[in-house]
Amino acid sequence: EVDTTNYLLTQKDIKRLIKPRSKFDHKGTFGHALLISGSFGKMGAAILSAKAALRSGVGLLTTHVPQCGYSIMQSSVPEAMAQVDDDDNRFTAYSNLESYNALGIGPGIGTHETSVKAFISVLKSFAKPVVIDADGLNILSAHSNKYEVVPPGSILTPHVKEFKRLVGEWSDDFERLEKQKELALQLRSVVLVKGAHSTVATPEGKLYFNGTGNPGMATGGTGDVLTGILTALLAQGYTAEDAARIGVYVHGFAGDLAASDKGMISLIASDLIEYLPAAFKLLS
Ligand code: AMP
Ligand code: MG
Repeated sequence: EVDTTNYLLTQKDIKRLIKPRSKFDHKGTFGHALLISGSFGKMGAAILSAKAALRSGVGLLTTHVPQCGYSIMQSSVPEAMAQVDDDDNRFTAYSNLESYNALGIGPGIGTHETSVKAFISVLKSFAKPVVIDADGLNILSAHSNKYEVVPPGSILTPHVKEFKRLVGEWSDDFERLEKQKELALQLRSVVLVKGAHSTVATPEGKLYFNGTGNPGMATGGTGDVLTGILTALLAQGYTAEDAARIGVYVHGFAGDLAASDKGMISLIASDLIEYLPAAFKLLS
């Protein structure tokens, strides 16, 4: 029977979902993620998602960056490898995808036509789960065959405006949730709509409500941090459903820990990354 229940995510659920590490684990155990993010003037999105992925337990991380972002990435995130685009300013081409277990794509990539082409092409060639966010979602919204290009088992992370671009207007919250479930079903992927109460819809019709997080997180870059967290969890072998549940909870939890020390007014996206270790430690 199909489970179409609504759930509230609890700390107990998340603790149960997070897999413990064992003595003989090595970096190969935790996957190799690829993040395609950033462009000229938006390299911050790439740095934030990369740092968040590393703080979320990924074994290896490669970031795909335009030439202008190469030194920025290598000096800000020494733990990440860099795959450099042919283009100076943006994502236009990629090379071998075989070695990656998961792909995160979208933060700060822009919607230039050369990036649109490369985006569609990379999704078609990458058969494994993908996290699609930000400009990746905007590109998808404008694409006629969106239901064919998203690999099943992926995660989409629209905020409300991005979700509107994907599915059109709704008249009340109930209709919005129905549209969210419908999109998850059509894409055979998890749709995570971000906001004060982020919601996670699965293709089977399950809905999870997240209670962590606070208005201090209403500041640039916090969504890019979530993309990094989710990509790292997919690379570690969590299903899209479990990655979304863990990711959305821990992201908000890190925000709550950060806010209790620094206050909501001064909170910035980098603070979420700073508090990820404490958040994961309390949850595992
Ligand atoms: P983005 O708009 O892509 O940068 O994502 C913003 C992130 O901050 C999402 O994960 C939201 O859930 C979170 N966020 C923004 N405002 C709030 C709020 N008022 N309460 C809780 N979380 C929030
Ligand atoms: Mg965003």
